[in-house]
Amino acid sequence: MKTEMTMVARSIVLMAWLLVVAVPVEARENPPSAAELKAAVQEAYDKFKDVTDGANANYIPELDKVPSDLFGVAIVTARGEVFAVGDVDYSFSIQSVSKPFTAALVMQQQGAEAVAQKIGVEPTGLVFNSIMATQLIPQVSVNPLVNSGAIASVSMVKADSASQRFDAILDWFNRLAAAQLTVIEDVYQSEAATNQRNRAHAYILAASERIYSDPMEATDVYTRQCSIGVTAKQLAVMGATLANGGTNPVTGQRVLDAQYVPKVLSVMLTAGFYNESGIWSYTAGLPAKTGVGGGIVAVVPGRMAIVGFSPRLNEAGNSVRAMKAIQYISEKFGLSIFGDGR
Ligand code: GLU
Repeated sequence: MKTEMTMVARSIVLMAWLLVVAVPVEARENPPSAAELKAAVQEAYDKFKDVTDGANANYIPELDKVPSDLFGVAIVTARGEVFAVGDVDYSFSIQSVSKPFTAALVMQQQGAEAVAQKIGVEPTGLVFNSIMATQLIPQVSVNPLVNSGAIASVSMVKADSASQRFDAILDWFNRLAAAQLTVIEDVYQSEAATNQRNRAHAYILAASERIYSDPMEATDVYTRQCSIGVTAKQLAVMGATLANGGTNPVTGQRVLDAQYVPKVLSVMLTAGFYNESGIWSYTAGLPAKTGVGGGIVAVVPGRMAIVGFSPRLNEAGNSVRAMKAIQYISEKFGLSIFGDGR
């Protein structure tokens, strides 16, 4: 009798263990369902909506005027499903989140080798506009996700004039976003009037033939590129195009050759968060790109893009709530590209 009781007790314990531990592990091995993603976006929003740490970027005066309380979280899957909560239709300036997408255009036009050779792909470990980094390696501008390398990327886009260069970039972004994007003129004017440091980068590059069009033209087109307005949802479609191997999941059109997607994602992982790229990789484990407009796009290859938007930034220029929201979703589903550690 006692043995029977012990066996029954053991079976109950085993069943409970299977339910509590084994079943969720099994479930986590499958991609999260639509209902789970929807719930996670809502949870991430609710969890971090009251966080007020950080401050708007103010070195571009117009960015300081953007309402600091705005907060949105969006997921677009590689199949084109959209899950979004909060201020996900507010158009904010894309800023540096534009950089990997322009690098992708340069790869599409000239191949991945051209980016590695003429710009470079090494992380700097330094701030986004570090003059020291630009001087560090005299042959290249270091990588396309810091300011100097991004200006070099713009200079490599095939064009005969500044307007052609900008139109090529805007058209490329439109195809990635499945939208007709426009420049936020006030942000452009504000940055154009205060971008002396970026002009300095361009001249340093020019002095050692590391820029491939007129340096001031490239800087101005770069400034316009950074002022393009996107919503969190549109940015998530851009990211989902990378997640989907270069084919836009909303339009079904191939934008970027699949061979270049891993190259773009690799630079995003090592340099997308500037001097916080290490800790970002360590915690979220996802290729991502931040911008001083408050947007962050993270890509889960083959699965989805996760976007957070919130104007308040930390010291490194990365959006506090956007980081937290993406980290939360990544950890919840074990999305790190290095595995879920279970
Ligand atoms: N347009 C900004 C600049 O050149 C972009 C910086 C960023 O978003 O990190 O300073």
